[in-house]
Amino acid sequence: WSSRDFSWTKKLEANNKKVFGNHSFRPNQREVINATMSGYDVFVLMPTGGGKSLTYQLPALICPGITLVISPLVSLIQDQIMHLLQANIPAAYLSANMDWSEQQEILRELTSDYCKYKLLYVTPEKVAKSDVLLRHLNILNTRDLLARIVIDEAHCVSQWGHDFRPDYQCLGILKQKFPKTPVLALTATATASVKEDVVQALGLINCIVFRQSFNRPNLWYSVIPKTKKCVEDIDKFIKENHFDECGIIYCLSRMDCERVAEKLQEYGHKAAFYHGNMDPAQRAFIQKQWSKDEINIICATVAFGMGINKPDVRFVIHHSLPKSIEGYHQECGRAGRDGQRSSCLLYYSYSDYIRVKHMISQGAAEQSPSVTGYSRFNNSGRILETNTENLLRMVSYCENDVDCRRLLQLLHFGEKFNSAHCQKTCDNCCKITSSVDKDVTNIAKQLVELVRLTGQQFSSSHILEVYRGSLSQFVKKHRHETLGLHGAGKHLAKGEASRIIHHLVVEEFLLEDVKKSDIYGSVSSVLKVNESKAKNLFLGGKTIILRFPSSV
Ligand code: ADP
Ligand code: ZN
Repeated sequence: WSSRDFSWTKKLEANNKKVFGNHSFRPNQREVINATMSGYDVFVLMPTGGGKSLTYQLPALICPGITLVISPLVSLIQDQIMHLLQANIPAAYLSANMDWSEQQEILRELTSDYCKYKLLYVTPEKVAKSDVLLRHLNILNTRDLLARIVIDEAHCVSQWGHDFRPDYQCLGILKQKFPKTPVLALTATATASVKEDVVQALGLINCIVFRQSFNRPNLWYSVIPKTKKCVEDIDKFIKENHFDECGIIYCLSRMDCERVAEKLQEYGHKAAFYHGNMDPAQRAFIQKQWSKDEINIICATVAFGMGINKPDVRFVIHHSLPKSIEGYHQECGRAGRDGQRSSCLLYYSYSDYIRVKHMISQGAAEQSPSVTGYSRFNNSGRILETNTENLLRMVSYCENDVDCRRLLQLLHFGEKFNSAHCQKTCDNCCKITSSVDKDVTNIAKQLVELVRLTGQQFSSSHILEVYRGSLSQFVKKHRHETLGLHGAGKHLAKGEASRIIHHLVVEEFLLEDVKKSDIYGSVSSVLKVNESKAKNLFLGGKTIILRFPSSV
C-alpha cells in the first residue's frame, strides 16, 4: 500500500499540507488512507497520539459524500468538530442531549441536495436507538453518498477489552444495512483476542489490518512499592524531576483523588481533582484550566483521559494499581505525545490489588442486568472472570522486578520486543546487571501446604508471617507457631517469599477469596487452595521457576 501511486495521491498530499498543515505523513497514515479509499474494510491499531483522526478526516475531505463517525463521548466529538471547523471542514454531530429541533435541522441538511457536511459524528447509542438516523443514512446510501463508516475507539465493542460499552455491540447493524460502504475501525489498544472480537462484531469482511509497534520510546517506566509515604514521594519526585510541569495522577476512588490533590496543594503544587461525581460544568472547568496550564496536576479517576490532546504531559503517575495492562498502557500513553521524555510511575501494593478486586466483583454484580441485553456471553460471571484475569496480569507485571517493562507490556499486545532496545529506560533494565533463574517449586509447595494447614481462612500476609517465623500476637493467638512449617522460610530474602505467593495466586494454584470486612468498607481476603491445579505441583508434574536479580 505504501509505494504505489493512486489517482488521489496528489490531492491527498496537497490537502494534508494546505488544510491540516502537516509536512508529511506519520507511520501508516498514508497506507491506511489508501486502503480505505480503495474500498476495503480496514482495522487500525495505532498508539495514542499516532494520528488516527487524519486517516478518516483527509479521505472525508477529498471523497464525495458523507463520512459517518461513531465516537463514544460527546466531549470527544465536540473537540474534533471544533478542530474541523477551524480547518474549514464542515462537520456536525448528533447526540441525545441536543434539542430535537436542532437534530432535525441537521438531519434535513444531511439529505438535502447540496449537503454542506463532509463528516457526521454520532454517539453509538444514536445508532442503537434512532430509526430516524438509520432512515437518513439509508437515503444517503441509495444515492451513493455514504462514503465511509468510521468506528473510533473500536475496542469498546469487545468485552475482552478494558473499556467495554454495551451500545457499541449493536454497531454490526451498519455493515448489515450498508454492506458496500467501507468501514474503518480505529483503536489505540487491542490484543489479538480484542481485535478478533471487534472484527466479528462489526461484521468486517476481508479486512486489512494495520498495526504498528506500541512501544513508546520516550516514556520511562517504573514500578515503586507503595508505602504510607506515597504522596510525599510523589511530591518529591515531581519537584526533583518535573518542577512546574504538567501531569496526571490516576487514583482508584473519588476520595483518593480529593485526598491526593489536597495534599499536593499543601506541598505547594497547582493540583486539582477530577472524577465522575462532579457535575459536568465543574469537570469541564478543571479540564480547561489544565489545558491552559493554570493547573499543573490533575488527580483523577480513569474517567479523565479519553480524548485528551495535551501534547506536553510530562508525567503519568498511578497512585494505585490499574485494572489491566491495556488500560495502563493507554493511560501512560497520554504522556509525551510531543515525543519528549516523560515519566510513568506506578505505585504498587498487594493490598491495592485486594481493593481493586473487590471493586471489580461489585462492578460485575451491578453491571450484569444492563449488559445482558446485547451481550453474547449473557452472564456476569464471564465478565468478572475476564476482568479478574486482566487484573492478575497487571499484578504479575508489578511483581516482576526482572524483565524489561516494555517487553512485558508489548508481550501483552502480542508484540515481540528485544529488551536491549530499551536502553535502560525502565526500572528493571536499569536495576539489573545480571539475573538468575531459580527453581522455587519446594518453597511454593510449602506455602500451599501452609495455607492448607491453617484451614484456608487466612490472608497471604499472615501466611507469609508464619512462614518467616513471626511470633506476633496474632500468630500466637491461632497457635501457628506450633506448626512444623513455622519459620521454614526464615532464610529467604525479604520479598522473595511474597513474590512466590503472589505468583501462586496469579497462576491460580491459590485462590483469593475477597470479603468486605467491616462497615468502613475495607476489604480483606483469604487464601484457598485450588486443589485441581495444586495437584500437579505435588505430583511432581510442575516446576516453578522465577527470575531473580543475581544478588538475591
Ligand atoms: P490519535 O487519535 O491517534 O491519538 P490524533 O489524531 O489526535 O491522534 O493526532 C495526534 C496529534 O498529531 C494531533 O495534534 C495531530 O494534529 C498531529 N498529527 C497527526 N498527523 C500528523 C502528521 N502527519 N504530521 C504532523 N502532525 C500530525
Ligand atoms: Zn526495559
